[in-house]
Amino acid sequence: MPMKETVGTKGLIYNEDVIFEKSVEGRKAYSLPALDVPEVEVQQLIPEEYIREEVSGFPEVSEVDVIRHFVRLSQWNYAIDVGFYPLGSCTMKYNPKVHEDIARLPGFAQIHPYQPEELTQGAIRLMYELEKYLCEISGMDRVSLQPAAGAHGELTGLMMIRAYLTSQGNPRKKVIIPDSAHGTNPASSTLCRYEVISLKSNDRGCIDPDLLKKVMNEEVAAIMLTNPNTLGLFEENILEIARIVHEKGGLVYGDGANLNALLGIARPGDMGIDVIQFNLHKTFTTPHGGGGPGAGPVGIKSHLIPFMPVPTPERREKTEEEKRKYGSRGVEEYGSGGVGGSETKASSYFYYLDYNRPQSIGKVRAFYGNFGMMVRAYCYIRTMGAEGLKQVSENAVINANYILSQLRDVYHLPYDRYCKHECVFSDKYQLKNDVKTLDIAKRLMDYGFHPPTIYFPLIVHGALMIEPTETESKETLDQFIEAMRAIAKEAEEKPQVVRNAPHLPKVRRLDETTAARKPKLRWKKEV
Ligand SMILES: *Cc1c(COP(=O)(O)O)cnc(C)c1O
Repeated sequence: MPMKETVGTKGLIYNEDVIFEKSVEGRKAYSLPALDVPEVEVQQLIPEEYIREEVSGFPEVSEVDVIRHFVRLSQWNYAIDVGFYPLGSCTMKYNPKVHEDIARLPGFAQIHPYQPEELTQGAIRLMYELEKYLCEISGMDRVSLQPAAGAHGELTGLMMIRAYLTSQGNPRKKVIIPDSAHGTNPASSTLCRYEVISLKSNDRGCIDPDLLKKVMNEEVAAIMLTNPNTLGLFEENILEIARIVHEKGGLVYGDGANLNALLGIARPGDMGIDVIQFNLHKTFTTPHGGGGPGAGPVGIKSHLIPFMPVPTPERREKTEEEKRKYGSRGVEEYGSGGVGGSETKASSYFYYLDYNRPQSIGKVRAFYGNFGMMVRAYCYIRTMGAEGLKQVSENAVINANYILSQLRDVYHLPYDRYCKHECVFSDKYQLKNDVKTLDIAKRLMDYGFHPPTIYFPLIVHGALMIEPTETESKETLDQFIEAMRAIAKEAEEKPQVVRNAPHLPKVRRLDETTAARKPKLRWKKEV
């Protein structure tokens, strides 16, 4: 009998079937001791309507089958803990493991959102202080920690803009968005019932103030811009842009997903930005893994404070009675959360959640947001400190410019400027040999690298958008550069090798259209 291919090991790399294919009738992952109490019919224990007639099609497997199945699948994954992950705009930086230890402290991990404030002082204090740190980093007046992702932060921000403008008499109709924007910007605007006006970028990849002047009027609620923008370029005319929009009574929304370039160097709040979201899962090292949970806190200037989502973390002086009851030396002595004595003064405060906000847009997330992510981001800010955060951005910018400088002779650079946290090339030179961005991305896998972001931003034909982040060493960057240069050479000398890539990974070139339009979602047993 020939060996079954799926069981085979090639260099100890395993294939893995769907778990249903491993099913053997009657095989179990448990064994229970013999019953030593009287048997009771299940109907006596569970209401009739909840009992299934039969459980069919479930895999019947042993414990070791289950363990191996999921461990093998996990080994198919690529992750930041495995290698370099240069996805532009995604800021795939290393997530320090100490954050995981802190987030798993029982006071954080086992806290319940319905626990009374007296028992959750440490947790509320952490939210309170995280908000203050984000305010200081960004130059905003307040931050709501609730949104669960960058896009959710955008929506929350736009809802506050709508509420603010409504309170001024007119919510207005339109939002201006440059053509380099992330797709979530027009999506959030549309969800918030705004019509989107797309603004063409100029030949430096930025917003053209003269063009903006022409489209800005009293129908426009806001401009949504990203700075540095998705080309990795700083909006040079940001102050003038903000002035043009403010003069007509509009607001400036800053998409802060790319804050990794600005920490400790420039503050959106000083650039005339009224609302901005932060992606904790990008700049502040909380994991992206498995699609979440993310966190997209949204910062605002003072005129928008009345519209913030409820609740907001606040603090007040403890009353004399509270001091007697709970002590006045350190909230860390009492309740959950092990933040502990950063400033002795804090011990005389009582932390609480404020729901009394009559003009609030309401709640945007169950309870208070993804608290575990706040713990990790808080840890990151505290461990880095102000100087450390500045160094993060400096190194992120240097790393991106290093890649830019080492690849610019072999890949076309559509906007020839120093970049911030990421650089954008195109496939223009390779197209002569009929090698496209997709081929280059696939070929990178043969060299052991996760591909960068491709075909975004849309204004660059065949874009290759590379964001190295600050957590990569020069050696890693050099290996990546070497691979990219080797591919450029192959595109000249043996383009078919690049066109047919990847050759080495377990899964070769997929038909992506079919995979997206006709996904195989259901396993069906052949009989
Ligand atoms: C990642 C990103 C977003 C969306 O953030 P999510 O957390 O994925 O919703 C929005 N804008 C820009 C520029 C981004 O890079």
